[in-house]
Amino acid sequence: MVMTSTGVNVNKLPVSEEEHSFGTWQVKYKQSHILHSKCTETSSENGCPIEGSDKLCIFCKFSKEVSLPHLPDMVFPNNLLILKHKSGATIEFNAMDALKKVQHGKMNLKIACSSEWKEARQDTGLVDNEIGSFDWTFSTDYCGTLSGEWVMQNCPDVSINWDRLKQKDKILFFHELTLFEDELHDNGISVLNVKIRVMEWGFFLLLRYFLRVDGVMIRANDTRFYHEFDADYIVREITTREAKISELNIPPTAMADQNSLVPEIPLRRTVIEKLVLKK
Ligand SMILES: [Zn+2]
Repeated sequence: MVMTSTGVNVNKLPVSEEEHSFGTWQVKYKQSHILHSKCTETSSENGCPIEGSDKLCIFCKFSKEVSLPHLPDMVFPNNLLILKHKSGATIEFNAMDALKKVQHGKMNLKIACSSEWKEARQDTGLVDNEIGSFDWTFSTDYCGTLSGEWVMQNCPDVSINWDRLKQKDKILFFHELTLFEDELHDNGISVLNVKIRVMEWGFFLLLRYFLRVDGVMIRANDTRFYHEFDADYIVREITTREAKISELNIPPTAMADQNSLVPEIPLRRTVIEKLVLKK
């Protein structure tokens, strides 16, 4: 039985989807079970035949497109959140695009704790050169998939209106989806999730990649989308937080609560962009 960190049995999740319209926006999500751990179409070691790749099973499709030697324990290939504006501009969140951004091939960065990790992983069947050839923490700087016509401006003159978000406005729609999760073989957690809330006046969305390697380090890559329906743009704020656990003065018991932990991690980078919608 595979359970998420919040105790959900992911093998039993039914497929669900919902679609809502809010003025000029359509918001849709889909969610379903985790990726199978092997090809579902053939018992051959090579998986689905490569010709006619549109016919690949979802496992083979992932293995082909995401060239990592090892995928997270739990990948939700069918979990999608899509926001579509009437102009055709679309923002989408999915696991495949996020995993494509995990570093692989020749690693440029040396991961500080890879020797501890290697030791912990000795019985997993992963060989040394696999551990050195990709980022086994699955760190991703994915900040959503944009398509359609957008005008992007690097624009520090806009910002998220936190005061407005703190008002207790009625929430018309809320949803949260996990895109992938890995417990680093009991050495911590690596998880990517996205949540959205829609109010009468606009929407707010948080995509968070969170990593904790127990006793070693902690990282949060957050992307926030803030939109007021009467504006012609969306504010996208991208932040990177990272610290060694030894640099933080946080009791071990507080380590599990992501929401209160993240603001305590030193901020390393902030990028604010204005995504302008065409009329
Ligand atoms: Zn297959």
